[in-house]
Amino acid sequence: MVIGRTISSQALNEAEETFNISLRPKFLDECIGQRSVKEKLAIAIEAAKQRREPLEHILFYGPPGLGKTTLAHVVANEMAARIRCSSGPALTKAGDVMGLLSNINTGDVLFIDEVHRLSTPVEEFIYPAMEEFRVDFTVDSGLHAKTINFPLKRFTLIGATTRAGLLSAPLRSRFGMLYHLDFYSSSDLTEILVRSAQLLQLSCEDGTLQLIASRSRGTPRVANRLLKRVRDYAQVKGSGLLSTEIVENALKMEQIDPLGLDELDRAFLRALVNVYDGGPAGIDAIAATLGEERDTLEDVVEPYLLQVGFLRRTKRGREVTKQACEHLGLKEHKKKGSPDQPGLF
Ligand code: ADP
Repeated sequence: MVIGRTISSQALNEAEETFNISLRPKFLDECIGQRSVKEKLAIAIEAAKQRREPLEHILFYGPPGLGKTTLAHVVANEMAARIRCSSGPALTKAGDVMGLLSNINTGDVLFIDEVHRLSTPVEEFIYPAMEEFRVDFTVDSGLHAKTINFPLKRFTLIGATTRAGLLSAPLRSRFGMLYHLDFYSSSDLTEILVRSAQLLQLSCEDGTLQLIASRSRGTPRVANRLLKRVRDYAQVKGSGLLSTEIVENALKMEQIDPLGLDELDRAFLRALVNVYDGGPAGIDAIAATLGEERDTLEDVVEPYLLQVGFLRRTKRGREVTKQACEHLGLKEHKKKGSPDQPGLF
């Protein structure tokens, strides 16, 4: 059983990406939520501008769709700098990085998404670039190999990752600012949807955007994606107006439940309960049962289930909670002698 979900960056098709870009805030004061990160960034940007220096390297980490790429572009816009974008998996060898770095001007931003997926040789090649703004580049091989020390302009590297834990300690320590992005509150998501609805010139009944926000798993990308689905539904099944009835029906068709869980979340929890007696179960085993990628489950599904208290991660594996069973109307299994949760299952 493979249940796709369009939340991950890789899975976004071109149309969805264009839609996202059109709704992306360009400057800090257009960004909603993440107040503490914005405040710290604003100070760092102001200070760097006053000193006429490029910003220090920044790492944004947190689940997908929370605004890491958006903030990288915002930082570049605020610094009036050019931004060049790449990603960990795309930079397979030192030459790929060299191509990017050799074209960089003072103050430019180099954005590397999925920075935890850089290979070790590429990572080691980047260290002196980050620290001393120079690289040692080897040309030719064997007897003719020559190492050229190549000076670089001072630039700002912005890395984004869903897994800060997978970043090597030497790479992590080379970022001057490390910011964790958290799930958004329902009121922040409503504000994001009000902005998006204005940009898309949608007419909405009172309360409808709050309804979409409450089903968006604390994630702006999900909120905007649901808005798009609801807009299509309203256009085809109604007059284009986002009424409560239209929004509820559209969300039902998308199989989004009142807590914002979708079919993949529910399949994950059902597999834990029905196949693994509520857990503990290893993530690889659950991934195999669902026919899904382990990375998708760890990056996209688990963070929100942990956040709402439907899942526990223990040393022995994943365990479903009583609240999750109640939410899904699943029967709890009585598990004998479970030391972690006596009497729960
Ligand atoms: P990530 O890089 O973390 O996966 P993105 O930066 O691609 O996430 O954000 C996904 C979408 O969510 C963006 O296209 C943008 O429209 C919206 N978004 C993200 N953060 C904000 C914010 N703070 N305010 C308004 N919209 C946002």
